[in-house]
Amino acid sequence: MTVPGPEAVTTADDPLAAIAPRLFQPLGVDGVYARTALYEAVMARLADFVTRQRDPLAEVLRFPPVMSRRQLEKSGYLKSFPNLLGCVCALHGSEAAIRSAADRYESGGDWTTSLAASDLVLSPAACYPLYPLVATRGRVPADGLLFDVAADCFRREPSRSLDRLQSFRMREFVRIGRPEQITEFRERWMGRARQLAEELALPYSVDVANDPFFGRVGQIMAVSQIQQALKFELLIPYHDGAKPTACMSFNYHRDHFGVVWGLQDLREELAHTGCVAFGMDRLVVALFANHGLDPARWPASARRALGL
Ligand code: AMP
Ligand code: ZN
Repeated sequence: MTVPGPEAVTTADDPLAAIAPRLFQPLGVDGVYARTALYEAVMARLADFVTRQRDPLAEVLRFPPVMSRRQLEKSGYLKSFPNLLGCVCALHGSEAAIRSAADRYESGGDWTTSLAASDLVLSPAACYPLYPLVATRGRVPADGLLFDVAADCFRREPSRSLDRLQSFRMREFVRIGRPEQITEFRERWMGRARQLAEELALPYSVDVANDPFFGRVGQIMAVSQIQQALKFELLIPYHDGAKPTACMSFNYHRDHFGVVWGLQDLREELAHTGCVAFGMDRLVVALFANHGLDPARWPASARRALGL
């Protein structure tokens, strides 16, 4: 048995300590891991499984792990989650200025004091870059719009718990249109997600939820989000008696992104938006945690669903 040491992914008392080394390898920072072939094989099957659920009318876009800082600022992210945001910083200026900053490292000093923010942030969710992009295309048609987007996301929440990564993959189906189109989409997906969890033979519950809004004002925002039922989550326990982990979320943003980006329909009404997010890494860990390390021995329905 591998004995978790300081370089191990989990703490020794974590019930998942025994499976962690077969899935993740440490890279020196908590919540940032190399993924093994075993893990990635299941990730690929799960991604195909999600693709098969996609509406044929959805437009597919894949985003890089970074996005425009200005766009994220304008989206209101700093009001809600300033503590989670990662900003790309770089050494700017003349060759001499950059050289002298870099040389400080060589002489045991701190080179990072010369860093300045660039025009990029690390994407904290897959759907943020979509709304400004759609806004450049003009009015939203009467049937609304549907997208399948994905990105490697970053959130500054270091942890040694396998369900809380700093760098993780998010896949989303996004609906843009009238309020009733968004609520219908979200309702349908909350039902569909229950079926998916059953096909994957995973224990689950669906519950109303709130985002981890920052600070004291954030607590008020969280209460209001729950009261308005704007967010639901699909929760899966990783082992018997474990506090369940949110593996999918179902979000209704109302006209927030419509207002920010001037998204309107043909009747000049503000567009509403909603998204269904698959936490791909959390779902893959949920599969291994519940079914074990050998996919050949997973429940038949999970193997059928994933084509294993
Ligand atoms: P959210 O926008 O917070 O609803 O995130 C969408 C989904 O991404 C969640 O339901 C999780 O499955 C996943 N997710 C969020 N934060 C993390 C994290 N720190 N590590 C791994 N997955 C995450
Ligand atoms: Zn989203």
